[in-house]
This record gives sequence, structure tokens and C-alpha cells, in this order.
Amino acid sequence: MKLEKRDFDAIVVGSGPNGLAVAILMQQNGLSVLLIEGKETIGGGLRSAELTLPGYVHDICSAVHPLAVASPFFEKLPLAEYGLEYILPRIAVAHPFDNGTAGVVKASLEETAFLLGDDEETYLQLMRPVVKAWPLIASDVLAPLHYPKYPYEMACFGLPAITAASFLAKRFDTPDAKGLLAGMAAHSMQPLTNLTTSAIALVLMASAHLKGWPIPKGGSNQIANALAAYFISLGGKIETGLCVNSLEQLPSAHAILFDVTPKQLLKIAGHKFSSIYKWQLERYRYGMGVFKIDWALDAPIPFKAAVCHDAGTIHIGNTIEEITLAEQQTWDGREAEKPFVLLSQPSLFDTSRAPAGKHTAWAYCHVPHGSTKDMTVTIETQVERFAPGFKETILAKHTFNSVQMEEYNPNYIGGDINGGVIDIGQLFTRPALRWSPYKTSAKGIYICSSSTPPGGGVHGMCGYHAAKRALKDVFKITIK
Ligand SMILES: Cc1cc2nc3c(=O)[nH]c(=O)nc-3n(C[C@H](O)[C@H](O)[C@H](O)COP(=O)(O)OP(=O)(O)OC[C@H]3O[C@@H](n4cnc5c(N)ncnc54)[C@H](O)[C@@H]3O)c2cc1C
Repeated sequence: MKLEKRDFDAIVVGSGPNGLAVAILMQQNGLSVLLIEGKETIGGGLRSAELTLPGYVHDICSAVHPLAVASPFFEKLPLAEYGLEYILPRIAVAHPFDNGTAGVVKASLEETAFLLGDDEETYLQLMRPVVKAWPLIASDVLAPLHYPKYPYEMACFGLPAITAASFLAKRFDTPDAKGLLAGMAAHSMQPLTNLTTSAIALVLMASAHLKGWPIPKGGSNQIANALAAYFISLGGKIETGLCVNSLEQLPSAHAILFDVTPKQLLKIAGHKFSSIYKWQLERYRYGMGVFKIDWALDAPIPFKAAVCHDAGTIHIGNTIEEITLAEQQTWDGREAEKPFVLLSQPSLFDTSRAPAGKHTAWAYCHVPHGSTKDMTVTIETQVERFAPGFKETILAKHTFNSVQMEEYNPNYIGGDINGGVIDIGQLFTRPALRWSPYKTSAKGIYICSSSTPPGGGVHGMCGYHAAKRALKDVFKITIK
């Protein structure tokens, strides 16, 4: 079928990892693609900047990239040729406790299990089948709901994954193992008593044992820069500084793919949608927000547990009971007194992030949707609790509350960094219950952001599946 001439074959609005993934896959298939970004720089959640002091490079949003290296699409791209270099911290995650010790997840499954003492065997029984199955099931897990290629291996992951993390944690006896699991599950940004909160914990733990939790040398913007450079090398075009508020602003194209969330999509293209589709998008649920803080530091963070100095990421939340309470309170609309804090300390492993001898750290905690409360003191008190003397190392800081987070990136509605709640009700049907979640009810218009399966995180798989759909529907190109 010959399509009539348009300015471009496809237009992608939004240059986050998913927008970039769409643009690349379509351009790779011989189409002419224009990628439009509302801000002056590309990258969405993948930007880095000197937020505090000159010479201190901070990741504004994403910092640690287990899902980028686990992505079946990104791993096929020649990103190293375009300057992307990953650094693997010696330990993926450390989880300090009040008694001065810390649980850790290392590359070695056996060593991680061994360090859990009485829970060694339980950890191996839980994680060994998932780690073994992951290479076969990754493409099925990071995809919309469908019948898997390897049903047995998928069941090894799916059966524990569907449970609530609070339930799965009952398999363990030690506070260390329970705490570690809770910290991993808290990435899901919902009460740990919710079904499927174990899924993210299992994916993150398995990824630590397979390819690790790397940080990009120079900052997370290096991932976006490499993706964009590869896209341009294929002949793609990028226009920045054009915030799209209406379809009339766009050149003509056969397909338009939006790396935005349902709220923005309704404003831009709502008049084109069927009433039932509009109704579904209007009911789409956004979740908790984040309060983010970046520090320029005079010295490494003085964690009591020495093992924390070898870890790229620190989960601060102490026991499963404390983390469960904090996440529940936040979900219920109250700022937690002792929130779960995710902290990354990239300059320990990447000297390009700070002047010689100095350091940077990145942290956020969950807050109620749209909260404007300043959580600086609360977060710093949590860090100080496990690293006495931390506050004295602070040279400068920069903060974002959840409203400022949305001002920075319009996809973070109310500070929700996952593009909408990823609970059982929206895991596979985000943003609407449809045969293909990427296809809107309007011909040629698609949604490709983290508001589609598989959801938040830097993996580009929402974009990959949206592009596959559009290639098939509009251009009759099938990607295996
Ligand atoms: C504080 C924080 C920490 C995080 N940490 C991690 C982490 O460590 N690891 C990880 O994997 N993930 C992390 N994430 C999540 C990750 O950044 C997101 O899941 C991911 O960026 C989503 O990609 P996306 O392409 O769907 O959207 P985005 O990356 O949000 O990109 C959307 C882009 O579209 C643009 N846009 C929106 N509306 C319009 C419009 N109307 N016109 C033109 N352009 C528009 C935006 O400006 C933006 O550039 C973090 C996020 C935040 C905020």
C-alpha cells in the first residue's frame, strides 16, 4: 500500500527514553521521523546538570539503571559507539539498619544469600529460579499482557511476583532479608500490602544478580545523548523547545506517537477520541509524588556500616515494619515522619561527577500526590541516622518538591515519576483497557510513555512496543 506524501512518516512528541526508543525503531525501519521536545534539551527523565555548585554534576531524575541494561531493545543498540559507558558499583544496593549493620545485594546470588544467614536457603529458593528464567522471560515481562513464550519460566517469576511484598516477606525469618525485600518493593510507590508489589522487588533483585545496577559515566544524560546521537546518525530529526498543546502545531505525518501521560494527551488530542476512550483516560489514576534532593558534599557519606561505601544505591528505611508504615501513610495522604529514602552516591564510582576529593549524592522520598511540603530536614535526618556526621559534609543542596517536579517535566503529574499508579488495576491496562494499550481510538495517534505497559523506569520498552504497533497498523511493517 502506498501512503500519500506527508511532511514526515512519523512524529514523536516527547524525548524521554520511551520517545527516543520509538524514534529509533521507526527510523531504523526506513521511515522519516521528527522527534519534538517541549524543553530546550532532550532526555525527559534522563538529564544531568550542575544543580548545586560548578563542577558538581547531578542526575535530575533517574540515576541508577538496572532496567536500561536489562532492556531487550536498548541492549541491541550500539550505544557504546555513541559515547555511553556504564560503571558498575561493587555492590548494587546496601540497606543499613539501626544496629550499624547493613544487608546487601551483590552481583553474586550465592554470596548475597550467604550474607543473609538463616535466610540463605530461602533467598536461593526464591531468587535462583527467577534469575535463571530472566533471560528467557525478559521480553515477556517488559511487555503488554500476552501469552508468554516460556510459560513454565514465566510461572517461576509470575507466581511470587503477583503477591504483595508484605506476604512474600513472610517466607523470610531474618529482619535483614525482610528489610531488603521491602526496600526493593518500595520502588513500586504503593502500599506493600498491594498485590504485585513483589514483582518490582523480584525484577530489581534479579537484575542486580544478572547485569548489576550500573550508573552511566558522566551522568544519566549520557544515555539520552547516546540514543539521540544514534537516532540522528540514522537520519532522524530533533526539534527542541516546542511544547505541543494542540495537534495543529504539528507538521503532517501518518503516525503521531505521544511520550506524554493521559492527562496531557486528553488536552492535546482529546477532541479526536471516542467518548469511551476519553472516559477511560479521564479515570486514569496517578499516584504518590516524590521530594527530591541533591547534595554537593565535602566528603563521602559517613555511613556506619562500612559496606555502604561500596554500594551505588542505598535503601534507607530500616525494617520492613518501618518501610511498610511509611509507604502506607504516604499513600493515605500524609508525609511520613520516617520516610523510605532512596539514595545514590555516584561520585564514589565516577570521578567526573565532582571536583577531586568532593562528592555528590542524590536522594528522594515518596510524598503524597501534589505535596508541597519541604522534606529536606526529614530526609537529612534519615540519612544522618545511619551516617552520623553526614550533615557536616554538606556544601550545597538543591531540592524539588512534587509540584516543582511536575513543572520541570509535565509527565510527572503531582510528582508521580511512574506515569501513573502501577497497581494490579493499571499494570497491564494502562492507560485504558484495549486490545493494544498503545493505540488510541483516533487513527494514527498512539501513546508511548511510561503510562503504558510495562510502566516506569528507563528501559524504553513502552516506546518499543508502541512503535511496533504503529509500524504494523500504519506502515504494514511487522517486527518479530
Ligand atoms: C527523581 C526521579 C528519580 C528516578 N530514578 C530512576 C532511576 O534511578 N532509574 C530508572 O530506571 N528510572 C528512574 N526514574 C523514572 C524514569 O526517569 C522514568 O520512568 C522515565 O524517564 C519515563 O520515560 P518516558 O519516556 O515515559 O517519559 P519522560 O522521561 O518523562 O519524558 C517525557 C518527555 O516528554 C516531554 N513532553 C511532555 N509533554 C510534552 C509536550 N506537550 N510537548 C513536547 N514535549 C513534551 C517532557 O518534557 C519530557 O522530556 C526516576 C524519575 C525521577 C523523577
